[in-house]
Amino acid sequence: MGKKDYYDVLEVSKNASQEEIKKAYRKQAIKHHPDKNPDDKQAEEKFKEAAEAYEILSDEQKRQKYDQFGHAAFQNGGAGGFQGGMTMEDIFSQFGDIFGGFGGFGGFGGFGGGSSRGGMTKGSNLRVKVKLNLQEVTKGVEKKIKVKKYVPCDACSGSGAKDGTAKDTCSTCRGSGQVTRVTNTFLGQMQTASVCPTCHGEGTTISQKCESCYGEGMIKKDEVIKINIPAGVSEGMQVKMSGKGNAARRGGINGDLMVVIQEESHPELTRDGSDLLFMLYLSIPQATLGTTVEIPTVEGKAKIKIEAGTQPGRILRLRGKGVPEVNGYGRGDLLVQINVWIPKTLEKEERKIFERMEQSDTFTPRPDKSENGFFNRMKNLFE
Ligand SMILES: [Zn+2]
Ligand SMILES: [Zn+2]
Repeated sequence: MGKKDYYDVLEVSKNASQEEIKKAYRKQAIKHHPDKNPDDKQAEEKFKEAAEAYEILSDEQKRQKYDQFGHAAFQNGGAGGFQGGMTMEDIFSQFGDIFGGFGGFGGFGGFGGGSSRGGMTKGSNLRVKVKLNLQEVTKGVEKKIKVKKYVPCDACSGSGAKDGTAKDTCSTCRGSGQVTRVTNTFLGQMQTASVCPTCHGEGTTISQKCESCYGEGMIKKDEVIKINIPAGVSEGMQVKMSGKGNAARRGGINGDLMVVIQEESHPELTRDGSDLLFMLYLSIPQATLGTTVEIPTVEGKAKIKIEAGTQPGRILRLRGKGVPEVNGYGRGDLLVQINVWIPKTLEKEERKIFERMEQSDTFTPRPDKSENGFFNRMKNLFE
């Protein structure tokens, strides 16, 4: 199967400038954008084809190779190293910025929702806050959230035109969405282009507006959105859901939904990055004689063994009992810091015991250098 010539794909001449190539790619990408053509395999293919052509032609080195050897330069093992078969995600992450700063076009991940040439608009981004407890942060969670957002109008399928009413090409700009004004200056004629005031850059006008949406093509509605939040997120992080934001005016690309994470604090465990910290208080006899105590973990209670003669300040590390890294690699630890509770009042009999202890040589402090290091005595003491 013959591959289409990259210049033909972008509809530019062989000696097109980088600026022309960029413009041509934008045009193709917008035309065949998957949000604009849902479930249209052919459009998706064209969208990918354009991205591939742009990847080569926008890079002068690759372009030179292509001019010299054609597609052969980039076949597997070829000189270019181009792997071919980009996924949609690759395209968005690599070339997403091409949509930014273009005549008010919102851009992927950008904000706003101005209009642009060719009748294409992008809906504004939506921002919601989601509160998660420590269990949810640790395991990841699916949340259902009700949001009020713009959705395409049912009555007119988002076109803004009353049933059956076709769109007319805007007579002011003849469909280009732009008006060019020529002014005579002492330097000669100057051309300035601006967004068409009649159609706001859409290139079309509607003769009879849809009555449900007043010609906007969208209406505000409550919608329940399922949000999958990965494990390991933290306060202030944003999870982006492409295309789940507000619909655009008259059938453009949807904006994105930005989910802002808020963390609820746990009553006993304190999070420090991917580690969790628990302050364990032992009684003097417990620390002296050794014991088994129950401590909280994200998964519920766990028992740990306390050795006889455990000093306060010591930290026990329970490996892998912390919070997973958000990138999916590894999981933090649960650090249990030992404290010894000193009674503030004593019964008469108890006082006598303490007085006897005070006289005994056994109770004279003899700190060992290995005991007072803060982090140097960590042990895994699961029972
Ligand atoms: Zn409508
Ligand atoms: Zn116009």
